[in-house]
Amino acid sequence: MVRKDIRKDIVARAQRVVLKLGSYVLTTPSWKLDRKVFSDVVHSISELRQQRLEFVLVSSGAIASGMGKLGLRERPRSISQEQATAAIGQISLMGLYDRLFGKFGLHVAQILLTHSDLRDRKRFLNARHTLMSVLKYGAVPIINENDSTVVEEIKFGDNDYLSSLVTNLVQADLLIILTDIDGCYDKDPRTFSDAKLIPLIKSIDSDIEQFALGTKSKIARGGMATKIKAAKTAARFGVPTIIANGKTPGNLKRIFSGDPVGTLILSEENKFASRKHWIAFTLKAQGRIYVDDGAKAAMVQKATSLLATGIVAVQGEFDAGESVSCCDRQGREFARGLASFSSDDIEKIKGLKTAQVREVLGVDSGSEVINRDDMVILST
Ligand code: GLU
Repeated sequence: MVRKDIRKDIVARAQRVVLKLGSYVLTTPSWKLDRKVFSDVVHSISELRQQRLEFVLVSSGAIASGMGKLGLRERPRSISQEQATAAIGQISLMGLYDRLFGKFGLHVAQILLTHSDLRDRKRFLNARHTLMSVLKYGAVPIINENDSTVVEEIKFGDNDYLSSLVTNLVQADLLIILTDIDGCYDKDPRTFSDAKLIPLIKSIDSDIEQFALGTKSKIARGGMATKIKAAKTAARFGVPTIIANGKTPGNLKRIFSGDPVGTLILSEENKFASRKHWIAFTLKAQGRIYVDDGAKAAMVQKATSLLATGIVAVQGEFDAGESVSCCDRQGREFARGLASFSSDDIEKIKGLKTAQVREVLGVDSGSEVINRDDMVILST
């Protein structure tokens, strides 16, 4: 049962909020930084901080703002030009945040991340400590992907995904995604005039994911699909998400008054602890391990480790310690985990009992290919 005042409860309980601002929200149609939006958001944050709320921003707009400065209409085609555009835009973006927050006596802190900063557990924890220290200084962390140096292998890809990982990184209790439409609709509102805003999503099912597909934009890397995916990821960390229009003045304050603004997506009751969430969502699977029905049942129902004997096939190349996806015989992914052996070794020991594994590998390393503590069950 979802109580009627669920929104009020959620915003009243929130203490640390990840606020994601999209490129279209922050810029005008000619890709200039939209000062009205910046002033409104900064003013609202400085007021909401009086209620002991902490904000961690994930701000897009570097590439868009760089385009505005360079007078470009289209996003540059070459990677180096796009990266240069981001470098030119990022500094204006931060300059404006710095000036506006400065009027309220607040410092801002720029944190530019790539996926490699978070996929290593030590670096992930290090980034967490840095962000906590920024918050302790009373400053406002502003995170973006490091677009100027990032290459395909270490890309987050879009800031919606990044913002959902940041909820775990800073242990937030609410994610707000401000975009240029009012929330999640049952159909694309740009095509269908009878599209209806969905005020509350209790749980993201495949219908909702279907509604959200196909709203890609030229500048922002997301669309509604990436927002719904981000909300789903945050939900597994026990964090609800509100998707709302950032162009509407006062919306951020309205959200914290408990007003029915945008779409609220509730969190999952059975949430993952931070490390398990990191394994499931921050890491990218480097390969696939196919298991038999008995192994799947034991992992899902009894939370056991995955033994070599239950493995039928392995795909991809990975080292011991890397993230892999566990699939059943039908090829459906049902778990993720850190492999204790490389893909080459798993190829040699698949289907074997512990004593045989010892003979084949020549070392007594057991036959647990994924230890239960390094494993996350995603679906049953
Ligand atoms: N990092 C990009 C930028 O600041 C935006 C990525 C996104 O929109 O998801 O321009």
